[in-house]
Formats: sequence, C-alpha cells, structure tokens
Amino acid sequence: MTEMQSPVFDLQEVFGEDVFNDTAMKKRLPKKAYQKLRETIDGGQELDFETADIIAHTMKEWAMEKGATHFTHWFQPLTGVTAEKHDSFISAPDNEGKVLMRLSGKELIKGESDASSFPSGGLRATFEARGYTIWDSTSPAFIKRDEGGATLCIPTAFCSYTGEALDQKTPLLRSMEAVSREAIHLLRLFGNTTSEKVIPHVGAEQEYFIIDREKYLKRMDLVFTGRTLFGAMPPKGQELDDHYFGTLKPRIAAYMSDVNKELWRLGVPAKTQHNEAAPAQHELAPIYEKVNVAVDHNQLIMQTLKRVATRHGLRCLLHEKPFAGVNGSGKHDNWSLVTDDGINLLEPGKTPHENIQFLMVLTCILKAVDEHADLLRESAADVGNDLRLGGNEAPPAIISVFLGEQLEDVVFQLVSTGHASNTKKGGKLNTGVPYLNDISKDATDRNRTSPFAFTGNKFEFRMVGSRDSVAGPNVVLNSIVAEAFHEAAEELEKAGPENFDNAVHDLIKRYASEHQRIIFNGNGYSESWVTEAKRRGLPNLPTMVDAIPALTTDKAAALFEKFGVFTKKELVSRMEVKYETYSKDINIEARTMLELAGKQLIPAIINCTEKLARAVMTVEQAGADASVQKRRLQKLSALLAEAEAAHETLESETIAAERMPAGRNQAVTFRDRVVPAMEALRRPVDEAEMMVDKELWPIPSYADLMFEV
Ligand code: ADP
Ligand code: MG
Repeated sequence: MTEMQSPVFDLQEVFGEDVFNDTAMKKRLPKKAYQKLRETIDGGQELDFETADIIAHTMKEWAMEKGATHFTHWFQPLTGVTAEKHDSFISAPDNEGKVLMRLSGKELIKGESDASSFPSGGLRATFEARGYTIWDSTSPAFIKRDEGGATLCIPTAFCSYTGEALDQKTPLLRSMEAVSREAIHLLRLFGNTTSEKVIPHVGAEQEYFIIDREKYLKRMDLVFTGRTLFGAMPPKGQELDDHYFGTLKPRIAAYMSDVNKELWRLGVPAKTQHNEAAPAQHELAPIYEKVNVAVDHNQLIMQTLKRVATRHGLRCLLHEKPFAGVNGSGKHDNWSLVTDDGINLLEPGKTPHENIQFLMVLTCILKAVDEHADLLRESAADVGNDLRLGGNEAPPAIISVFLGEQLEDVVFQLVSTGHASNTKKGGKLNTGVPYLNDISKDATDRNRTSPFAFTGNKFEFRMVGSRDSVAGPNVVLNSIVAEAFHEAAEELEKAGPENFDNAVHDLIKRYASEHQRIIFNGNGYSESWVTEAKRRGLPNLPTMVDAIPALTTDKAAALFEKFGVFTKKELVSRMEVKYETYSKDINIEARTMLELAGKQLIPAIINCTEKLARAVMTVEQAGADASVQKRRLQKLSALLAEAEAAHETLESETIAAERMPAGRNQAVTFRDRVVPAMEALRRPVDEAEMMVDKELWPIPSYADLMFEV
C-alpha cells in the first residue's frame, strides 16, 4: 500500500455502529418486548414498566459491549446546547464489596434533575426546583465517545414538576403530533385512506468556520464570545469567490474525513461537504430525516465538529458572524411533509396545476407563513443572527416566500382567472457545449436571497442561525401549517362531499389571492425590497429584541394553545428566557471588549505612539525631516484618544444596563445603548490596527485567522 492509499473503511459496517437502532433492538430484544417498543415508537402507546425493565437491561448490555461505563439522559434545555448528567451503571456494592451493573426501566424512562439551574424564564421560581427528563423512544439511544470514555446517551424530553416544557424537544414532539393529525384530516377529504401519519422531515445544512486552535486561544473575544469583536479587514476577503467549492486544504480534508467517520458511527447520515463562500468557511449537510431525529443529529453534528477540531489542532466556530466583512453562517432548514407510506405532500408531480392536493397544501403553507411571518422570524432570532440577517449575504429579516417562475405563474393564473390552464414547462437548457448533454432545466431556478424558498419538493428556511437548534423553527413551521390545514379541512367539510371539487377550487383561489403578498421572487438583498415589503404590510423585525414579542401575542397564544404545543405560561417563560439570553450575551461581549481593548489593544496603540515619539526625537536630533513620523504619531494619537473615550462610554453604558432588572427593558437598553457603544469602540481600534507595527499588535489578525489554516 502506498502512503496515499487509504486503508479500507467499511462504511456500511460502521454506519450506525454506536446506535441502539431498530436493527440492534430487533436482534437483541425478546420478540414481545420489541413489539411493544415498536408500538410505542410508531403508535404513541405508553410503555409498561415490565417491558421498560427488559429494554433497559438489553440496552445496558449492548452499551457495555461497546465499552460504556456510564449512562446519561441527554436533553436540550433552553441554553441552545445539550445537557447531560452522567451516572455509572454500578449499583451499591454488596457485602463482599462487589458491584453489579444495572440500568432499570425506571432509570431509563425517567430521570430527575435540578431544573432551577437551567433557563426557565420564571417557571422555576414559583415551583419546586425539580425537573424531569423523560425518555423519548422515538430518537434512538447512542454511545458518545470522548476523552472521558464511552457513555450511553438516552435522548429525553425535559419538563418541570408541573409538566411545563423546559426544553426544545417537548414542544417539537407536540407540534409533530399536531401537524400529523391535521394533515391526515385534510388528506382523508382528498380520498386518502391509507396514510396513518404525516411526519415532518428535515435536512439541516450546517455552515461553520475552521481556524487554527493556537491562534484561536490567543484571542479572548473568540474564546469568550465565539466571534471577533475587533479586527481590521485584510486586503483580500471573499471577493474573488475562489473559496466556494474550492479544493479542500489537506488539513481540512483530514478533519472532515474524521468528522464524517464519527458521525457515521452515530448513525448521522452526513452526505455533502464543501467550502463555503468566505475564507475558512465550510458546510456539512446530512440526508434529511424525521424532524425529531434531525434535531438530535444536528446537535451531534455541532458537537462532533467541535470535538474533532480540537484533536486536529483546529477550532470550529459555529457563531453566526465570527468575522465582520465576510459572510456569516446559517443553517438552512429544509422541510417537507411525508406520510408514513412515503408520499411527500410537497411533491408537485409532473404538471402542478393538475395536482390539486399539492396546490391546496401549497396555498395552506402560503397562508400559514403570511399570517405568522412574525413568529417564523422570531424562531430564527438569536443574538448572533442579528449580525447576519439583512447583511449583504443573508436573507433579510423580512419573511417572504420564493416559489419559482413556474409555480408563481400557476398561483398568478389561479388568482386572475380562477384556474390554471397551463404550466410553464421546465424546458431544455442548452449548454452550448456540444459534448454536454442538454439537461432538463429545473422548473424552479435557485434564488439564494429568499428566506423561505420552495426548492422542488421541500421548503428551505434559510434564516436560521448556525449555532441555533433547529427545533424552534420547526415547532413554528409544524404548528402554523397544522392550523392552516385545520381551517382548510373545516371549510371543505362544511361544503359537503358533493361540492368538494368546487370548494377546493374556491379555497385554493381564495388563499392564493389573500396571501399573494407573501410571494416574492426578486432579489431579497436589495434596498427596494425593504420599501416594497413595507408597502405590502409585511413585518420587518431587524433585531432579536424586535422579534421576541411575536411569541406572546394573542394570535400566537391562540395558535399554540389550540394545537397543544405551548401553554401561554410556557410562551411567557420562553419570552423571558430570550430577553435574558440577549442581555447576557451582549453583556459578555461588552465586558470582553472592555478587557481586550483595555488590557491588550489600547496598550499596544500606546506602545506604538511611544515608538513613534522616540523616532521623531531621534530623527530630529540627527537634523533630518521627521514630518512623516510626526504625522503618523498625530493620527495614531487621535485614534487613541477616540478609543479611550469610547472605552469609557462603553464601560458606563454597560454598568448602567447591568444594573437594570432582567426583562424587555434591559434587553432594549443593551441593544440601543451598549451595542452602539461597542461599535464606537471598535471603529478607532480597527483603524489603529492598520497603523500599528505587526509585531506590536498582540493578537492574531483577520488575515492570520482566515488564511492560515
Ligand atoms: P443545497 O446546498 O444545494 O441547497 P444540499 O444538498 O447542501 O443542497 O442540502 C439540501 C438538504 O435538503 C439536504 O440535507 C437534503 O437531504 C435535504 N432534502 C432533500 N430533499 C428533502 C425533502 N424532501 N425534505 C426535507 N429535506 C430534504
Ligand atoms: Mg448546501
């Protein structure tokens, strides 16, 4: 074998090796227990304790064979990351000091943890601190391997003592139930008698940056906040577009290969990887899965990206905007609705205008997105995303839907004539290169600027931030679409079976005309769109703080309560958590800036002015012309004065905001007073960076970080 030849890696053998998946369960569980578990997974029946004991025992045996010594309930509190509390399998030693290894059904199903240590938005203050983790058997258990050994992770939901959801998973599962129920209701009216369930499916494309770990550790802004708070732009950014889809650097290729292998072991179907637009930016996309599994897997992807990076002497940045001036990172949420017997409700078929059920589904989604644009926007609100949305590279903070030329035409015909008589065909795309085959042109072109784009047989929600869980956006999507399906089904039922065809026709036309304003096929980055959207009455919520109130409007409460996804109390608690998260994050950024500027960057500027002053003296003593040195000294001194004043202002603004009680007012103050003060400090410091000797600048520059991986 030559050096460059790869050792054999049996992907089929390795895929899902560390997952207690259906194959493992079937092989190991007694037949009856397996059947009962399947009934729980597929049919939602509760599991009895006797069966739970058998499953727990089998799971433990399996995990120990894989080297696991501990188990943990793995859950997703409102911190945006996962949480786990490890317990070893050992039971109390017997008289001879020997321990037994055990995992009981009770331990599998239910765990208790101190909920008051997780964000709860006031839910915990008034109750006991107790919180419960409850096994979610629809997401398979898996083995997590790290420096601490191997741990059996049991995916769970996390609720308070009184049953309020304290996590991302519980509302997601509730919203899946709701959309399934309402979709089946609608499908029955269209004569579907075979499907039992409709399951949202999601493929979440993950963008991230990779930089050198040594350099990362030299920048406290990256360490504490995940993004650079200072940094002058290098002469070259992404303008040459030479990074996108470019050849991977060897170090990155080795890293990605390792990431893939780890993910495959965990049963995560990592599929595509490539360089993204900005230098040092990349993307990983798995094959789409049921949304609850996709949400878990996205968390595993983020964790694996980070863990493997450390091993390779690299650092993975998941922040939405690690560097000013180049593209930020998002997480495109590709969403579709698929029945348990494999029908994708978003599949238009050959001629969309004939496909009446598809058009009903499509117009329901238009209605849902139009009526709840504020909620959908809120679901992608995240502190880091404020720096990305509306930037020149990310969807604007205004929600609109891209349908593509063909479908937009169908909707237009429906609105104007009441029926769609022809379908713009995809047609042929002549490449002009004789030896390339003519490829059948996609009926929908790509539009990279739309926040919510129809892409063939799914919608792609592009607003979501790269760090965020995809649970939130999908909770909203599932719920708003459930509501639209429900209302459509009620209308159609009212009309009666004899008038069904006419009623469907009328309803599609009505929804299309009433919600046509949400359709926008143009350039979402353009200034004119902002004006046009305003004219159409579409909400424009540029910051997280602007978006949060959408959570608790009467409209939102009515929606979520009706479909059993959130109680009003849960919504209020989430709102509070979000304001608090916003304030805390900005506070940390401001404090980091104060320290970094105060202890490292301003002193470096001072050093440089001293050096220049000495140069002026020496040169003048020698009787030569020191005007250049003087000019530089004056310019730098002016920037120094500006930076110092801005530092003082930022400090006092930060202290004032910190003293306020948590809540909306505090978040507004951080946004309106602290964020501008941060920007005012950054400006002179970045300008000074361009003038200070490289060896005097104490932290790695943008060029060092982005181009030297
Ligand atoms: P692109 O970057 O061109 O948009 P990618 O291949 O990077 O495409 O990502 C597309 C994502 O959409 C993948 O995760 C893919 O599995 C997912 N996807 C494809 N079809 C569907 C579908 N019907 N429902 C949900 N997700 C889908
Ligand atoms: Mg992609």
